[in-house]
Amino acid sequence: MKLLLDSKRCIACGLCLREHPELFDLDDRGIAHFKKNLTSDSSVEIDSKKAKDLRSTITNCPGKAFRIDR
Ligand code: SF4
Repeated sequence: MKLLLDSKRCIACGLCLREHPELFDLDDRGIAHFKKNLTSDSSVEIDSKKAKDLRSTITNCPGKAFRIDR
């Protein structure tokens, strides 16, 4: 499955970086994106365990910027 991040919805709160620094970086405006070594676009492949680990981040993202594509 894929985790998708719509950076246009990000309000730069920093939550995803604090909870999953292995996946995310922030740009100079604080907008989240996936680490460059993981992907060249706005999605990464994740397994079901990672999807479970990400559940609270996805739910609590104030911009509702995340979506899981199964
Ligand atoms: S949790 Fe959501 S709003 Fe906050 S930095 Fe990450 S993508 Fe942006």
